[in-house]
Amino acid sequence: MAFELAPLPYAHNALEPYIDKATMEIHHGKHHAAYTNNLNNAIKGTEWESKTIEEILANVGKISTAVRNNAGGYYNHNLFWSIMKPNGGGAPQGELAKAIDTTFGSFEKFKEEFSTAAATRFGSGWAWLCVTANHSLCVCSSANQDNPLMDVSECKGTPILGIDVWEHAYYLHYQNRRPDYITAFWNVINWEEVSRRFTATKK
Ligand code: MN
Repeated sequence: MAFELAPLPYAHNALEPYIDKATMEIHHGKHHAAYTNNLNNAIKGTEWESKTIEEILANVGKISTAVRNNAGGYYNHNLFWSIMKPNGGGAPQGELAKAIDTTFGSFEKFKEEFSTAAATRFGSGWAWLCVTANHSLCVCSSANQDNPLMDVSECKGTPILGIDVWEHAYYLHYQNRRPDYITAFWNVINWEEVSRRFTATKK
């Protein structure tokens, strides 16, 4: 079974004014589509064709750079679209809110740490909120399309929130102002989905 590009769960203009329609069209329709196609081409005719994306990510160090880049790109963008929504933002509730307070001191402290990780990632990459193997939270960032599910990742865990800081994610609207894009991102976060992913790591 080849991996498929799922439709965006909302309209291309639904995240405006924070993320513009043209960026979303190109980001999903061109970039994410290309990662999906390139992943399928890279695993075609190999044992990895029948594996889940999580199994592939856990083994990318043994496969190839093409699979590492494109399996990451496929997975990371699926996560990214799901953890955003129109009229999002605010703050998490319930168990996730408690875990954030316990780990970072407060939601504001967590925002600072996550935003700094996103702003200081040199070049292209992602910043993450992860659940580690012992069920604590951590913030980290990764280069290119790497993510914390990969065997090659320095930072290990299950990502439940991520921000794409590749220039293709913001350059049309924000040009070189990555910090403005990061500030805007807090207004489109789908905390219900982040909480759902947090709870799912405990099962
Ligand atoms: Mn991207």
